[in-house]
Amino acid sequence: MFRTFIFSLFIRRTILLLLTGLYLAGCSSDGANSEIEEQVIDSSSEDNTTIQPEVDPFAFASGALLDSVVEVSCTLNDGSETSCYEFVIVGAPSTHEVGSFCPVDIFASADEVGIWFDGDGEVYDIDGQFIQNLPTLYNDSNWQLYDPDTGLVNVTDTLEKCDGAARPNVAAELQNHCVECSLDYVDGGISQTYTIPIQPVLAESPTSIGRDDVGLSLNGVAIAPPAPVDAILGAYTIAAFDDCAGHINPVAGYHYHGSAGCSEIEAESDGHAAKMGYALDGFGIYGMLDQQGNESSDLDQCRGHTDDVRGYHYHAASVEENMFIGCYSGKLAN
Ligand SMILES: [Zn+2]
Ligand SMILES: [Zn+2]
Repeated sequence: MFRTFIFSLFIRRTILLLLTGLYLAGCSSDGANSEIEEQVIDSSSEDNTTIQPEVDPFAFASGALLDSVVEVSCTLNDGSETSCYEFVIVGAPSTHEVGSFCPVDIFASADEVGIWFDGDGEVYDIDGQFIQNLPTLYNDSNWQLYDPDTGLVNVTDTLEKCDGAARPNVAAELQNHCVECSLDYVDGGISQTYTIPIQPVLAESPTSIGRDDVGLSLNGVAIAPPAPVDAILGAYTIAAFDDCAGHINPVAGYHYHGSAGCSEIEAESDGHAAKMGYALDGFGIYGMLDQQGNESSDLDQCRGHTDDVRGYHYHAASVEENMFIGCYSGKLAN
């Protein structure tokens, strides 16, 4: 009922162009039209404040979104009414293959497997060495992820096992497994819908990241909250990520737990890090490092800062931190 198709965007832009035309007309007039002159003065006094860009529905990779983006009326968490975009992601990356995840045996090399991170500041390749070293790494002799006779790794290689292990309360017989699920178990991906304010607005105070997705990537994947590593490790499981820091479970499908550079569609022309997605509050999330390999030094607690081109925006954390942003700086749609 509130739906207007994306074409309203063009109308929006046309109106903007018309207004610009009016301003120009005002400048060339002899000052007879005081109303327009006033507007010109107002607009020049606004030049000191950064203009916050709207969410750009054209920033997404082809094949990332399942349906056309629609504009809907929405209420933000401070009670204000505004317009939001409704994005429906495919739920599988449109720009890269999924996997690989677990090693077949303890002889597997790093290029055959995915990665693991637990938020403690390191990214591990889940190669044979890693599997053998688990009792030492986590200082617990109960870790035994492989058959000592054959060297084969315990992998959740059926839908049933994936179902029993890629969840809280891992079934007892699936402890000591490297957990992986196939995209085939979730029909190629689980689509999710996100309602995001078109014009992001900074909130008076930040909102903490809950258990819901943090946002969506430009290649059609859920940007998930931190992986529950304590529960995963507590069940003597490794919920393997692929090299893009994503993995699959039967409920959420394929989702990212880290920004590994796999969803950065287009480089920024000024050397800034590339955009990788949008947070639920409508502010863009960019890669951690700029094109010179440096991290911004002025990020706030949510990992955001402001510049003249992008307005307020976030920079993703490193993969080993098991997170993207620290909190939401903007108002969220209810
Ligand atoms: Zn996960
Ligand atoms: Zn930046």
